[in-house]
Amino acid sequence: MPLRPLDELDDLEEIGLSRLLPLRGICSTKACRGTARPSGRHCLACHARAVQRYRDRHAQQLAARRRDADALRDDRTRAADSARAKLAMALRRGTMRRGLCQICGTADVMGVVEEPQRWRDVVWVCRRDRDVARERRRDEEAQLAASRERAAWAEERTRVLAAIELLPPDIWARLHALAAQGPAGWTLSPEAPLYMMNLVRVYKASRDRGR
Ligand SMILES: [Zn+2]
Ligand SMILES: [Zn+2]
Repeated sequence: MPLRPLDELDDLEEIGLSRLLPLRGICSTKACRGTARPSGRHCLACHARAVQRYRDRHAQQLAARRRDADALRDDRTRAADSARAKLAMALRRGTMRRGLCQICGTADVMGVVEEPQRWRDVVWVCRRDRDVARERRRDEEAQLAASRERAAWAEERTRVLAAIELLPPDIWARLHALAAQGPAGWTLSPEAPLYMMNLVRVYKASRDRGR
């Protein structure tokens, strides 16, 4: 597997890497004697230039991504508006009638449409129960996202550790030495969670760069 020296990582990879590996001192740009930002290897001016270079180089992709996001949001808003209008019309025509709150049975209800295409599956709930349900769902989603993230991290860590074990000893040693660099000059022990995060991060950064 090709591996490039870590100091050849380009500035944008360094932005992510630097959060885990705070190295201070002089700007790493050749011939620049500026002071590196506390959280990076480059001075503020070089960092800003790197970000600008990245934006210039990826201008089309960035613009396309923005357009896609806008279009998606517009589609969703339009679908929701249309569902609301159809429901209001059905209520006016009397082809549909409001139900009672499905939680507490009160008659002061609002219609909740989950999927705009299936607006006839409207759920009637009072405002208070709607808020309670919304809150609960937000909690559940947050918990689900957190557990997915934990699982993904555990999987990635296992995969990367296995890959690192197969590296030549000198590269293996270099990655481990980088992983041991904690904040403020601290040396991390291999058991420290940050050590493991560093290790995965420097491995991935050097591998991506070597592609
Ligand atoms: Zn500089
Ligand atoms: Zn209710």
